Amino acid sequence: MTADELLSLSGLRTQFDTDRGAVKAVDGVDLTVREGETVGLVGESGSGKSVTALSAMDLVDSPGRIAGGTVSFRAVETVRRLARRHPDHIATPDHDGYIHVEAGTARDGQTSAPDEVARAARDSPKQIAVSGGDGSVHIEEGFVDLTAAPETVMREIRGGDMGMIFQDPMTSLNPALTVGEQVAESLELHRYGGRKKDSWFNAVRESLSRSGLSEEVREETIELLAEVGIPEPGQRVDEHPHEFSGGMRQRVLIAIALACRPQLLIADEPTTALDVTIQAQILDLINELQADLGMSVLMITHDLGVVAETCDRVAVMYAGEIVEEGPVEEIFGNPSHPYTYTLLESIPSEDAERLTPIEGNVPDLIDMPEGCNFAPRCPWAKPECTEGEIPYLQHGPDDVDHRSKCILESFDKSEYGTDTGIRASSKTPTGDPLLETKGLKKHFSRADGMLDEWLGDDLGTVKAVDGVDLTVHERETLGLVGESGCGKSTTGRSILRLLEPTDGTVVFAGDDIADLSKSDLRKKRRDMQMIFQDPLSSLDPRQTVAATIAEPLKIHDLPAEAPSQDVSKKDQRRQRVVELMEAVGLDPSQRDRYPHEMSGGQRQRVGIARALAVDPDFIVCDEPVSALDVSVQAQILNLMEELQEEFGLTYLFIAHDLSVVRHICDRIAVMYLGEVVEVAATDELFDDPKHPYTRALLSAIPEPDPTVTADRVILSGDVPSPVDPPSGCRFRTRCPSVIPPSDVDIDQEAFREVMDFRQRVEDGRIDVEAMRDPQTPATAADGGTEARVEGTMASTNPSSVVDDLFETRLTGTNRETIEQAVEHLFAGDHEAAAETLRERFETVCERQRPTLQEAPHPAACHLYDQPSDDDERPQNH
Ligand code: SF4
Ligand code: SF4
Repeated sequence: MTADELLSLSGLRTQFDTDRGAVKAVDGVDLTVREGETVGLVGESGSGKSVTALSAMDLVDSPGRIAGGTVSFRAVETVRRLARRHPDHIATPDHDGYIHVEAGTARDGQTSAPDEVARAARDSPKQIAVSGGDGSVHIEEGFVDLTAAPETVMREIRGGDMGMIFQDPMTSLNPALTVGEQVAESLELHRYGGRKKDSWFNAVRESLSRSGLSEEVREETIELLAEVGIPEPGQRVDEHPHEFSGGMRQRVLIAIALACRPQLLIADEPTTALDVTIQAQILDLINELQADLGMSVLMITHDLGVVAETCDRVAVMYAGEIVEEGPVEEIFGNPSHPYTYTLLESIPSEDAERLTPIEGNVPDLIDMPEGCNFAPRCPWAKPECTEGEIPYLQHGPDDVDHRSKCILESFDKSEYGTDTGIRASSKTPTGDPLLETKGLKKHFSRADGMLDEWLGDDLGTVKAVDGVDLTVHERETLGLVGESGCGKSTTGRSILRLLEPTDGTVVFAGDDIADLSKSDLRKKRRDMQMIFQDPLSSLDPRQTVAATIAEPLKIHDLPAEAPSQDVSKKDQRRQRVVELMEAVGLDPSQRDRYPHEMSGGQRQRVGIARALAVDPDFIVCDEPVSALDVSVQAQILNLMEELQEEFGLTYLFIAHDLSVVRHICDRIAVMYLGEVVEVAATDELFDDPKHPYTRALLSAIPEPDPTVTADRVILSGDVPSPVDPPSGCRFRTRCPSVIPPSDVDIDQEAFREVMDFRQRVEDGRIDVEAMRDPQTPATAADGGTEARVEGTMASTNPSSVVDDLFETRLTGTNRETIEQAVEHLFAGDHEAAAETLRERFETVCERQRPTLQEAPHPAACHLYDQPSDDDERPQNH
C-alpha cells in the first residue's frame, strides 16, 4: 500500500451459495483507487464488476458472502474519527481490531513507532487529534479494514465517507418522499457526524422533519440541488421523484451521494439507463464535481467509451477476475490481454466494416475451467493455459503499472478477424422503394377511460408520432435514431399496424396497409416481421425454442407445399425449424430448451429465427442488440448482415446506439419528439450532420479512444413533453443554434440564455421569491448544466438580478428588455413579462415549423432553405 491509496481491495473473493454449488462472482480481485483519481471497472454482464463494488461497501446480500480477502479504506480523517469513537477496535500488537494505525506521533511527539501510536490512541482516545482539534496523539496514516468493521460503522462510512450512485435512479429514490426530504436525510447524517443513534427521539425528530424541513436544512438542500444543476431548486425541492425526468433524478441521486462530501464516489453504471445526450450531461457533471471536490471515483460500467472518456486507470474484469489493469491510454493503445483486445475489436467503429465477435460464452462461474478463465474462447490459447495459476505479467514501459493475467508477452493480432465471411462493402445494392410512409401519426389519448372522457377531462394527447415521412428501399437498412420517447418504436409498430395509426399512409410493396381488410393484412404480415429488444420478455417462457419458431408457421399455415405420404406437415415444420435454427447459428439440439435456459445472444437468435420463419421481405428491428453485451452484440449484428445478404431482406433498424447504427445502416433518419428532423446516407450524416440536434447527438457518443478529445455539444435541459410540444421547431427549447430575430444583435450563447429565461417565464417556472432572496443560490438558466452556487441574488434591483441570472453579459436594448421583464415579474405580472420578452426576442424557430426539403439530405431546420411559399408551411403544430 502507498500513502495516496484511498481504497484497496486485496485478494477479494465473493461467493453466492446455491444448490448447484458456490458461484464465484469475485475470485481474488486486487484493485486500488488512489486519491483524486477515477478508476474504471469494466466488463460484460456477469463479469463480477458490480459485485466487486458491493463487496467493497459490504453490501452483498445473502446468499452472497465475502469468502476471503480484505478491503482497506485509507482516509486518515475517517481513521482518526473512528479511532476516537471506537478505541477498543484499534489494532495493536496485543489486540485485534479493524482500525489500523501506520504512522503518526504520540506523547507530544516523543514516539513515532506505529504500534506505540496505536497503543496510545487506544489508551487515550480523547487525545486523538481530529481535523480542527487538538490532541497529543496524531495519526498521520492508517486504514479501516472494511471487511472486519461492524455494520454500524459501515453505515457511517457508506453515505458519509463513501458516496454511491446506482444505475436506475427511479428505483433508488423513495417515491413517497420529496426529493428535498431525501437529500436532507443524507445531509442530516453528515450533520450528526454519523453519530445519530437509533433512538425514539431521533425517530420522532425524523418524522417531524419529513413533514417540513427546517429552514437551515432546506437551504442547504437547495444549495446541493443547485450544485448538481437542477433548475429552480427552490421550487423543485418539494417535488416527488416521479415529477423529475430520468436525467434530473440521476442528478438528485448525485446530490444525495455528495451531501456528505465523500472522499470516494462509487458510481455503478450511472448513465446506462440514460440517453446519450443526458449521459453526456451527467458525465460532465461528475467530472466537474470531482475536480471541485477532489474526490476519487470508482466508475463501474460496461461501456468502454465511458471509460475512455472519464477514467485515469481501468481494470478489465472477466469471469470474476481482473484480467488486465493499467492507465487508460495504455489499455486502449496497447491491450495486452486477449480478452481486452477481442472486446475492443467487437465494438462497432468507424473503420470496422466487419465486426469480429468473441466466440463462445462466459464460463459457468460454478464450474470454472482450470488455468485461464478465458481459455475456452481465446484464439491464442495454448495447452499450458489450462494448467495451474496464471501469473500477471508487466507490459508497456517500465515506469507504467500495466499488468495482464496471461502467459503471453505478446500475441499475433494480424490474423484475428480476417476469416469472418462477407464484408459490409460487398453488400448488394439497394433497389426500388419497398415501404413509404406519408404523414404518419400516432397519438395516444391520456384519458384513463370512459369516465375521463365522459367527464370531459382534457388530459391531452401524447403526440408520439406526428407526421413522419419515410422511404425504405429494397435490401436497404434504414436506421431510425433518437432519444427515448422520440417516437421511433411507435413509428415501427405503426408501420406494421401493431398500433393503429391515427393518420397518414403506409404503403408497402404498392399497397396502402391502412386499406387492407383483416384477412389481407394478415397475409401482408407474412412479409413484414418484427424483432424485439428484450428477447427474454418477448419470448413465451412456457414455449420451447422449437415451438416458438414454429408458431408463425402454424399461424400462416406454412410451409405452403402440400405434405406428401412420407412427409407430414408436422415433419415439414420440424425440418423448417431445423433450417431456421441453423441459419441463425443455433444448434438444432437446443430445440427443446426454454428461453431461461439460453444466453441473451441465443435468445435473440431465437427471436430472429422466429421473424424469419415466414420468409419476410421487411423486418422492423426494434433495438435488437441494446440488451446484449458488446461481444454478443457483434455476433448478432454480423448475423443480421449475413441474413440480409442471403435472403435479400430490408430492415428498419431502430436504435439509440449511434455506433451500432453507423455500422449496420445504409441511411439514417433522425427523430426528435415525434418528427423526423434529418435523413441522410450514413457516411454523409456522420461526416456532415446538418440539423443542430443531429450534431449534438453525434457529439455525445463516447469514443472508445482516450486520445480523442470530444468536441462535445452538451444540450441543456430535457426533451419536452410530447403532450404539449413546443411551437414551431420542437427542438428550439434546447437548440444551441436557435436563430435570433434579424433586427436583434446578440451572440448565440446569450440568445440561448434569453430563450431559456423566456421559457421559464412563460411556463411560470420562474422563482420570483428566490430572485429577491439574497440567500438563495442561483442556477444558470440553461436547464441545469452549469449551476452556479457561489452566485447569490444580492438585491431586487433588476440590473443586478440580470447580472446574477445570466452567465453571458447582456447590453443595450437586450438588457433593457430583460430588466423590464424582471420589473414585471417583481410586480407579479408574469404575462406582461412574457409579452415584453416575446415582442423583442420572438424567433422564426418558434413561429414556423420547419419541414424536410425534397433533397437527398434534408434537414428540418430554418438554418437551411425551406419551401419558399411560407403560406404553405405549417405555422404551428
Ligand atoms: S493465458 Fe492463454 S488462454 Fe488465457 S488469455 Fe492468455 S493466451 Fe489466452
Ligand atoms: S429551426 Fe431553429 S431551433 Fe430548430 S433546429 Fe433549426 S436553428 Fe435550431
